[in-house]
Amino acid sequence: MNELHPRLAAVVVALTVGCAGPSPRAFAPPEPAGQGGSIERHIEYLSSASQPSDAGASDAESPDPPGAAPAIAIRPSAAEMTARQWEHVASVDGVACRAELASEGVRFTSLADVAAPNRVGCGVPHGVVVTRGPTGIAYAPPLLVDCSLARELASVERIVQEEADRHLGTPIVRIATLGTFSCRHRRGRWEDTLSEHSFGDAADLASFEPKKGRAIAIARDYELGKTAFGPRASFLRAVYARLRGETKLTFVLGPEFNPEHRDHFHIDSGYRWW
Ligand SMILES: [Zn+2]
Repeated sequence: MNELHPRLAAVVVALTVGCAGPSPRAFAPPEPAGQGGSIERHIEYLSSASQPSDAGASDAESPDPPGAAPAIAIRPSAAEMTARQWEHVASVDGVACRAELASEGVRFTSLADVAAPNRVGCGVPHGVVVTRGPTGIAYAPPLLVDCSLARELASVERIVQEEADRHLGTPIVRIATLGTFSCRHRRGRWEDTLSEHSFGDAADLASFEPKKGRAIAIARDYELGKTAFGPRASFLRAVYARLRGETKLTFVLGPEFNPEHRDHFHIDSGYRWW
């Protein structure tokens, strides 16, 4: 990973000085790992100034509070939301956070800190590229995230490994990811605001590869709509429920949330506006 560090840093720096034109719209996320995604392709994607609006966008996280009725949302203006989202991530102590990651055994490289968002509002204040998490899970492509999300991996992986042991009898050694940092708007009701992916504090997890046996893909193995499950679906459903209930993550969205999340778990440590 060390040889990639300067390239990734250059991408982030480039994004902070203007990753989009004067009228930002939704940017397409990186291609799924299952379609040959690699860190190089990820970098290519991040390097592109803009993508066709909504093309292939697979993530539509909603910043509505968990369990909130979808009625009248009294929320800050889009500009205020963007400023608060940035401040939420930027206020983290990057030095202490990275020291915490190192002490947990996370394998990562650090990107240059970013002091201010780009003109669109995007940026990763304390960027890291995580290749392995605290329990040894490899991420493919690696996670390009803010340190504030990376430090939540300890609780995420603990749940993943406990449920893997319970339902599969073998540990998870690799997680395929669909995307992390991506400067773009949300879709749906909140489309005037930026996705948490725009600040590097969100990640999309697509499949879990056990030490023994084939990968467990959310798209194939979640078995949405069924009432009886095999061990793979039971594993995924248990992980999803516990990520939602037992972590400090702000949002955990999956197949049960909406069709856009049929193939991945979106996790983020984003700003809580409510
Ligand atoms: Zn997402």
